[in-house]
Amino acid sequence: MDLITADVSPAVPANEAKWAHEARADPRLLADIAYAVGGPFHVLFPDQFGENVLALRETLSAAGVDGTVYFGKKANKSSCWIPECVRSGAGVDVASEPELVRALAGGVRGEDVVVTGAAKKDSLLWLAIRHGALIAVDALDELDRLTGLARRTGPARIQLRVRPPNDPTSRFGLDESELEQALHRCVTAAGALRMEGFSFHLSGYLAQPRAALAAELVDRCVRARTLGLDASSVDIGGGFAVSYVDEQDWRTYTGDLPAEWFHAGRKFGHFYPYHQNPAGADMLAAILDTTVDGGLTLADKLTSTGTRLLMEPGRALLDRAGFSVFRVQGLKHRGDYAIATVGGLSLSVSEQWKNSEFLPDPLLWPRTGEYAPIGVCVGGASCLEYDMLSWRKIPLPRPPRSGDLLVYPSTAGYQMDKNESEFHQLPLPDRVVLDRTAGGFRWRLDR
Ligand SMILES: *Cc1c(COP(=O)(O)O)cnc(C)c1O
Repeated sequence: MDLITADVSPAVPANEAKWAHEARADPRLLADIAYAVGGPFHVLFPDQFGENVLALRETLSAAGVDGTVYFGKKANKSSCWIPECVRSGAGVDVASEPELVRALAGGVRGEDVVVTGAAKKDSLLWLAIRHGALIAVDALDELDRLTGLARRTGPARIQLRVRPPNDPTSRFGLDESELEQALHRCVTAAGALRMEGFSFHLSGYLAQPRAALAAELVDRCVRARTLGLDASSVDIGGGFAVSYVDEQDWRTYTGDLPAEWFHAGRKFGHFYPYHQNPAGADMLAAILDTTVDGGLTLADKLTSTGTRLLMEPGRALLDRAGFSVFRVQGLKHRGDYAIATVGGLSLSVSEQWKNSEFLPDPLLWPRTGEYAPIGVCVGGASCLEYDMLSWRKIPLPRPPRSGDLLVYPSTAGYQMDKNESEFHQLPLPDRVVLDRTAGGFRWRLDR
């Protein structure tokens, strides 16, 4: 309570998994890694990723629905998730040749890959056909290119991506008349194309619109089957919610916020929705349980029509599966608060580059030392005024000292490497993978 003064913002502690607390409770682990790598680093815990996959898969089986979870790979570049996909029975959603190659090299079979993205290169389409991957067709001319390639190379497995009816300005997907033509072309090119179903990817995190559109696509599948097409699956894309913080703490940060909570009186127009309910597997359960027509839930509708449910979660599979560590280089006082400068850049916390800020509180490590609470904002090691990891005056238990670590929790989904850069010729943060051992953790670099 004594932390809440004019020059400190209210705390927003992250919901973290047990492993993260244990890793920070280890008296040596983070210090040893920091010493070894010498710069900022991202800590990755693949076991948590595997648990997140299994939670979704168990939700599917509990509802009696057959389906596949594909990891939306763009949410984190590290390699360590891929073997975990293999172990936990997930496929991978890729959108570039390097992503496809990394998935295959990690042991994911081509048949367990879905290739998404707009106007995919011929070389990516060709590689996808060669490996029997499912290809989400986004445009009619792409379908024509793909058909040409498939005639020469072997049949292509495809799904038709639908432009969301509630987002008619989306640049992705096929509209009604394009879908009509695409189906016709699938029938004509039946030898070269295997049309397995329809897909979409919605923005936002609501269950209801996903259930409604999925139900519509089941109807489309049923109609496509009458044309002799396979049309056996519906892919609802990604956008599974993640809850980073408790509702109470999140509510403090909605609405107009006092300028004194932020360095330089900075105002943010919006924050990412850091609290959500339902999230992850609970959101999938809610989607499956949504009534879609005449008392029928989406789960009923899928099972009664023999339709499989595919999904491409990125962020949700990385929920609580990693954190980012920056070394404090110095501290400077500014009246009642202080500015810590860390080795590393705000480019390693992606939210900062959307005219917003990653809200969950960074933690000071080690936690030892006198109790002398202070509000601290966090700057990066560049010459840019706006290179701030946190404009917010974060309530810390004591002033950080040079050599301390600041741990940004729950950063695995998109924060770590979406916008990383080597500005100032600073090397990118290292990636450190933790594995459990009998006595604690072992660590290795992600390659
Ligand atoms: C980005 C993306 C995803 C993953 O989205 P999340 O919000 O991380 O779950 C899945 N499918 C497609 C087509 C995407 O573009």
